[in-house]
This record gives sequence, C-alpha cells and structure tokens, in this order.
Amino acid sequence: MINKKKKRVGIFSLTCDEGCSIYLIEIFNKKLFDWLKKMDLVYFLSIRDKREIKNLDIALVEGVVTSEKDKEYLKKIRSNSKILIAMGSCAINTMPSGQRNNFNTKQLGEIKDHLKKYNFLQRALALKEVVKVDNEIIGCPINEKIFIKVFEKYLKI
Ligand code: SF4
Repeated sequence: MINKKKKRVGIFSLTCDEGCSIYLIEIFNKKLFDWLKKMDLVYFLSIRDKREIKNLDIALVEGVVTSEKDKEYLKKIRSNSKILIAMGSCAINTMPSGQRNNFNTKQLGEIKDHLKKYNFLQRALALKEVVKVDNEIIGCPINEKIFIKVFEKYLKI
C-alpha cells in the first residue's frame, strides 16, 4: 500500500554563516510548491518561529559542531529524525567554518581564552563525528542539482 502521509522535514543550522540554508531558500523559489504536496516544513527558523523537534522524517543540517551545546542539539535532532542529511562542506568535513582546526600553535594560543570563555570544543567537528549521517550534499553552498536529487529521493520513500 502506498503511504500518502506527508514527510515531516526540518532544516537546522549549527555553527556557520547559514549560507547553505539561504541558498536553499533560492531552491525553494523553484521547487517549494511541488514539494509541499509531499512534505510539511515543520522546523526552519529562517522562515518560521516554531521550535519543536519531534517525529521528523528528514532533517537537513548545515554547519559544524563547535560546542557541547551544538553536540546536544545535533543528538536531539538525530534521535527525532529517520533520515539525517549533512548539508554543505562545513557539515561534511568542517570547512570552511571549522578553519580553526588548521591553526598553528601560535594561532591556537591566540584563541585559547576565547575557546574557554565560550565553552567551545578543542576542535570543530563534522556531523558524522557526533552522529550517524545518512547522506551528504556537497558544496559551499550546497550544489543545487545534487540537493534536488538527494532530497527528492527521500521525499518519495
Ligand atoms: S558550506 Fe559554505 S555556504 Fe554552507 S554553511 Fe558552510 S560556509 Fe556557509
């Protein structure tokens, strides 16, 4: 039997410039009406102020994990989502938002107090270093064609 229930989709930003989700709004300009036949956009703070993270079919996450708070937020998203997709190179491999991972000893010394003050982790982490990731969409920002291909695959499940 075909499941006609709409997918519950959430879009989340960890530490980054939010460029991937901004670019996603550009993609929505072309595709959203079509996609809304198959999904409910239940969490996306850039366009609606509703904060419940619960029973998601698809979570799209951008940015890097830089603090314990980010870690807990990501774990909560994971435990409430059937599919979790890393959006963009920050989420996949920490760059460019996690460029402090490549700092030399002198540069690390310069930011040491800031890391402590703001309770940051010693290294910025990619999503897959903290939780299971089901798929990745490359690009900085995300590649439009790949995003559409991957996202529509999960919308049809
Ligand atoms: S991958 Fe690029 S566009 Fe996306 S959040 Fe990171 S810096 Fe911004």
